[in-house]
Amino acid sequence: MSDKQEALFENIVVIGLGLIGSSLTRGIKQRGLAVHLFGYDGSAKVRQEARDIDIGAQIVDELAPTVSKADLVILAVPVGAMANLAAQVCPLIKPGAILSDVGSVKQSIIEAVSPLMPENTHFVPGHPVAGTEFSGPSSGFGHLFEDRWCILTPVEGGDQQAINSLKLLWQQLGSQVECMSAAHHDIVLAITSHIPHLIAYNIVGTAADLEDVTKSEVIKFSAGGFRDFTRIAASDPVMWRDVFMNNKEAVLEMLGRFTEDLTQLQRHIRRDDGQALQDLFSRTRAIRRSIVEAGQETQEADFGRTKG
Ligand code: NAP
Repeated sequence: MSDKQEALFENIVVIGLGLIGSSLTRGIKQRGLAVHLFGYDGSAKVRQEARDIDIGAQIVDELAPTVSKADLVILAVPVGAMANLAAQVCPLIKPGAILSDVGSVKQSIIEAVSPLMPENTHFVPGHPVAGTEFSGPSSGFGHLFEDRWCILTPVEGGDQQAINSLKLLWQQLGSQVECMSAAHHDIVLAITSHIPHLIAYNIVGTAADLEDVTKSEVIKFSAGGFRDFTRIAASDPVMWRDVFMNNKEAVLEMLGRFTEDLTQLQRHIRRDDGQALQDLFSRTRAIRRSIVEAGQETQEADFGRTKG
């Protein structure tokens, strides 16, 4: 099946060629959304790997010549690396060009990048709500963003034409696009993504530290629920360190709520309040059903996730 569509940009450069960056280059290439597509990564080893496996972009060793002719530059590096990278990239962006990013936290990136944008250039921050626990160029795939949401968090006074162009790019990659403020994004993602990752990291860490249950027992009996947490807890350590360092307030706020609810559950169990437990578990089962109905998950027992 050919996914080819009309090119939306003459020159696109994607910086950071890991899971998200290399999925973007593959998706853009497969659909013909750029006339010329370039990729750059800070690591020479990653650049070589990207060349060897062919991620759909021409891999360059230098940023300046490519960025200065790009109509769209997409930063796909860990959140903590965005500010330094933007300091390098922003002075090179040509007038009229768009800079975007795919970072999982939005306010801190906007604060760091916006002041660096030259006159007559447009910053349109974005976050594809799609991913896997894998990293690196070989983990990417062109249909990662299909039937997923991409959130754009336009900056104050942002250029509507630039926002529309980026929206169209994500739509052509198969995503549905929603615009919201960066502050709202960071709260929503704290509960839907950041706290679940923290809980997974915590439960797997707790199990690893237990003294009266052996490690081999944890592994042997993991199908009881534990293994689903281990998938999330296998996510990239650098990426997730940066998420928590950069979305501190929203995460701490949601964590406070979560802790209160956990304490209440503890109370229900201590007081033999089976009805309260059953009521909650029925409500949560309905939420799972709505996610499946919305096409964001399948009913399959392995969670239906494929590596692509
Ligand atoms: P990844 O697989 O680890 O790839 C990141 C790549 O960026 C690595 O190759 C890294 O090289 C490179 N890099 C780091 N600093 C750089 C710099 N200053 N200049 C150029 N390249 C640099 O990470 P990812 O999962 O694709 O995540 C990328 C971004 O997407 C993050 O901001 C993340 O929050 C966001 N995001 C991730 C997901 C997800 O599920 N993974 C989903 C949505 C959004 P080294 O390894 O050598 O440092």
